[in-house]
Amino acid sequence: MQNFFLDIATVMQSQPWFYFLTVGLVSLCIGSFLNVVIYRLPLMMKREWQSECRVLLADELPSQNTTEQAPFNLVTPNSTCPKCKSPIKVWQNIPVISWLLLKGRCGSCKTAISVRYPIIEMLTAGLSLVVASLFGATELALLYIFITWVLIALTFIDIDHMLLPDQLTLPLVWLTLIAAVMDITIAPSDAIIGAAVGYLSLWSVYWLFKLATGKEGMGYGDFKLLAVFGGLLGWQSILTIVLLSSVVGAIIGIAQIILQGKDKTTAIPFGPYLAIAGWVTLLWGEQIQAYYFSYLGH
Ligand SMILES: [Zn+2]
Repeated sequence: MQNFFLDIATVMQSQPWFYFLTVGLVSLCIGSFLNVVIYRLPLMMKREWQSECRVLLADELPSQNTTEQAPFNLVTPNSTCPKCKSPIKVWQNIPVISWLLLKGRCGSCKTAISVRYPIIEMLTAGLSLVVASLFGATELALLYIFITWVLIALTFIDIDHMLLPDQLTLPLVWLTLIAAVMDITIAPSDAIIGAAVGYLSLWSVYWLFKLATGKEGMGYGDFKLLAVFGGLLGWQSILTIVLLSSVVGAIIGIAQIILQGKDKTTAIPFGPYLAIAGWVTLLWGEQIQAYYFSYLGH
């Protein structure tokens, strides 16, 4: 089994085109699955909260009906058109191509299918290929590609629901610690301290902001997301990521005001900025820090 994986790694390293083709095609299909996660995971969480509330209230409200709900998870039921409920056929489920063949409309009722679906599929493939080209056919590249996938799901769920689900953030925190123990990223002690510093730094900012203004500027999911990057890169990168996420936030905020005329009070989740800034630091952190310090030196 060990030899089998070594053989695959050797082929991938000696045939870069085969590696990029594999990463691109697999990521397109993963992008298609991420669309399902982005749409269904928040609904699954909502159903779970509702059923927990029903159990809690059952004693006080005995008349509440407790009928079993049909299963609803990432694989069941099969995808249907939200409008006409006709099932999505296999050939209509091919990433990007199906959307183009269907000209962005449901095959049965011709209701428009959001252009966001093929965009997320192409984004997943594109960003994965960027990671693959920077880190080659290595364990680190596979780790970063996997993290890229989860970050895409987190970003769009946060945009839709102002929510970074624990089901996605917490496994990533553990993954960063395991990757450090497996000698793929940084020293385990750096990873542990990095994750803790990542969590606690935003946690402190949150409480200072709340005590000063009475408002909540971010949520606990943001702390966990920064813990992921701290676990991957160590505490030394935390400040860069936080500063970079405010730069990303400013750029996107200004672009939104210019393009859509959004007023400044619209609540925008912090998670996407953090995800973008953290991802950029994963890939180009050393260059950013070198540039920053050379700038300070002048
Ligand atoms: Zn339809």
